[in-house]
Amino acid sequence: MHELAIAESVVEAVLGRTGERLVTVVRLQIGTLSGVVPDALTFCFDLAVAGTPLEGATLEIQECPGRVHCRSCGREVESEDQLLLCSCGSADVDVVAGRELQLTSVEVR
Ligand SMILES: [Zn+2]
Repeated sequence: MHELAIAESVVEAVLGRTGERLVTVVRLQIGTLSGVVPDALTFCFDLAVAGTPLEGATLEIQECPGRVHCRSCGREVESEDQLLLCSCGSADVDVVAGRELQLTSVEVR
């Protein structure tokens, strides 16, 4: 499962910085074009933290909208799904934003 691997790497990244301190909140920023399903990630996070100092921590996910730049007409449009297609009909687009998957902050007890 894609989200489980992501959840495990998030837990590892946090543990690498907080060590044995108890973590209460983990905040992530996820782009809507990253392909990550927030609900699935939350579910997997709860599995991945079992038995670690992150056990019981709340995962807060902030979703960022996707934006693409069309190379055919030059417009920049919002895109909420993975089917990257400009309203002019061109699929020759560059993703400007929306593929983020980053840890923004954690709170320790
Ligand atoms: Zn276009």
